[in-house]
Amino acid sequence: NGKKLIVANWKMHKTQTESLEFLNFFLNEIKKDHDREVILFPPFTSLGVISKHLYGTKVRLGAQNIHWDDYGSYTGSISGLMLGELDVKYVIVNHYERLRCEQNPYDKMTNLRLKAAQRHAITPILCVGETQEQRNADETEKIIDTQLSNALSDVDLNNLIIGYESIWAIGTGESCKPSEANRIIAWIRKQLGKKDIPIIYGGSVTHSNIKGIMAQPEINGVMVGSLSLDPTSLARIVNF
Ligand code: 13P
Repeated sequence: NGKKLIVANWKMHKTQTESLEFLNFFLNEIKKDHDREVILFPPFTSLGVISKHLYGTKVRLGAQNIHWDDYGSYTGSISGLMLGELDVKYVIVNHYERLRCEQNPYDKMTNLRLKAAQRHAITPILCVGETQEQRNADETEKIIDTQLSNALSDVDLNNLIIGYESIWAIGTGESCKPSEANRIIAWIRKQLGKKDIPIIYGGSVTHSNIKGIMAQPEINGVMVGSLSLDPTSLARIVNF
């Protein structure tokens, strides 16, 4: 559907108690008739408790990572089977901050993660984006093209979201110009050869730039990091 997506990526923030505190405020502050697809991505430890409290609301639940197998000897990992049981409907795959933790060989696993999510009827959000250096060298399209072709082999494009996160804009306070993000997202959509694939922008989204970003015709929503931690701030973005 044509709803704009609002992804709230909490990263490694909020205990269960803090998560519930957030929800109490947030659910009261968002307009009852908003037409956004709002998805909260708490840490794994809060998924269970949030899942219960979201029952009957329009807000959806997402996870920040997924393993490609359903079970196995993978200490510290969580599978799509486990996530599905908690009513998780979305998962972030390939976030730059995970890349920094895990290093390579990563592409093959990204591909397997996307397929694992789809196997459990969870919509993956595949993150792509360029570093400052790559941007300066005018390599943005080349880099994203490689990221897409490595990740998407045999992946169902009908159950997929792309998150364009310009790496230099993550947590820096310096967001990509809306027109530039729009241009790159249009290019990604063309590369994928699928007009109706949702593509969202992430990287220092705030109250001051949300209007300009949402006004862009190619951009289907946003991924919010720092600002999503405060219920009033996130509600303002949803209500905008
Ligand atoms: P910031 O909004 O803090 O820049 O984080 C963006 C992000 O990584 C969302 O996934």
